[in-house]
Amino acid sequence: MTLLLTAHEVERAAALLRAGELVAFPTETVYGLGADARNGRAVAAVFEAKGRPHFNPLICHVADAAAAFAETVPDARARALADRFWPGPLTLVLPRRPDCRVDLLAGAGLETLAVRVPAHPLALALLRAAATPVAAPSANRSGQVSPTTAQHVLDGLGGRIAAVLDGGACDVGVESTVLDLAAGGAALLRPGGVPVEAIEAVIGPVARPLPLAAAEATRTLRSPGMMLSHYAPSLPVRLGAREVAADEALLAFGPAPPGAGAVWQLSESRDLREAAARLFAGLRWLDAEGRRLGLVRIAAMLVPAEGLGAAINDRLQRAAAPR
Ligand code: AMP
Ligand code: MG
Repeated sequence: MTLLLTAHEVERAAALLRAGELVAFPTETVYGLGADARNGRAVAAVFEAKGRPHFNPLICHVADAAAAFAETVPDARARALADRFWPGPLTLVLPRRPDCRVDLLAGAGLETLAVRVPAHPLALALLRAAATPVAAPSANRSGQVSPTTAQHVLDGLGGRIAAVLDGGACDVGVESTVLDLAAGGAALLRPGGVPVEAIEAVIGPVARPLPLAAAEATRTLRSPGMMLSHYAPSLPVRLGAREVAADEALLAFGPAPPGAGAVWQLSESRDLREAAARLFAGLRWLDAEGRRLGLVRIAAMLVPAEGLGAAINDRLQRAAAPR
C-alpha cells in the first residue's frame, strides 16, 4: 500500500525517508522518487522500484547551498551559480568531498556528485524536515513517461513505494540543466530549465554536448569498455567466478569458494538490495586491497540476472569490458 500524503503531512514523509523508505515528492520539474542518499539500501530500492536495468547516477536534492557544499567541493563558479540559480532547475556536478556522506551507489560509483536545490515549496519543506540529502530520479518505472501528478506516480509505482507527497501538478517538461564543473572546465551534460546562455553570463563559456547523432557515432565507434563513463577498477575483472586463485581478489555473492587473496562479500544471504548497496564500495576496496597485496585481478561471482541483479551484472560487465 502506498500512502498518499498531503502538504500537512511533510513530517511524516520525512520520517519515512529517514527510516529508509521511498517517498515520491513534487519538484518544479517532475515528481522525484526520493531515498535517503546516505542509505545504500534505500538507494538500491530506488533502482529496484524503477526496474532500472543499470545504475545511473542520481541527483542529490538538498534544501540549500550549504547542504550541497557539505557533500561536494565547490569552486568560485559553483558558488556564483548557486547564488544566482538556486533554488531552481540547475544541477551541478562537483567533486565529492572526502567525507561525503552520500552512498556511492547514489553516484553510481563516480568520484563526483550531482546536487541541486529544487524550487518547490513542498520539496524544500520535505528536505528541511528530512535533514538529509535525498537521491531522486523521476518517479516512474524505467522507460515510462515522467510523472507530473501524484496520480501518475501511483499509476506507475503504487504498491512499490511507501508514500507520495501530493503537491498537485508540476510545471511540465522542464528538467534541470546538468552542468559538469568537476573536471576543471564547464560542460553542459543536459540542457534544461536554466538556459546555458544564462549560465555563461555568470561563469563564461560552457562546452556544449555533441549533437545526438555525432555522440551516437562516437559511441558505436568506441569499444564497449570505452562506453563506460563510470569508474572502472584498475585491476582487470573476471566474471562468473566459481573457483578462485590465490592471486585474485574475490567479489563474493553468497557462500564463497576458498582461497582468494582478498574477499568482499556483497551479501552472505544473497540479498540483491544489500548486494547493490555494497557493489561500488566493494569494487573500490578490492581494487585498492588487491593492488596493495599484489593480486592480479578481481574475480566476480555470478549474480542472478533478475530484478536488481540485472543492474549489478550490467555494472560488472562494464567493469570487465576491454579497455
Ligand atoms: P534524472 O535521473 O532524470 O534526474 O537524470 C539525472 C541526470 O544527471 C542524468 O543525465 C545523469 O547522467 C546526470 N548525473 C547525475 N549525477 C551525475 C554525475 N555525478 N556525473 C555526471 N552526470 C550525472
Ligand atoms: Mg527519468
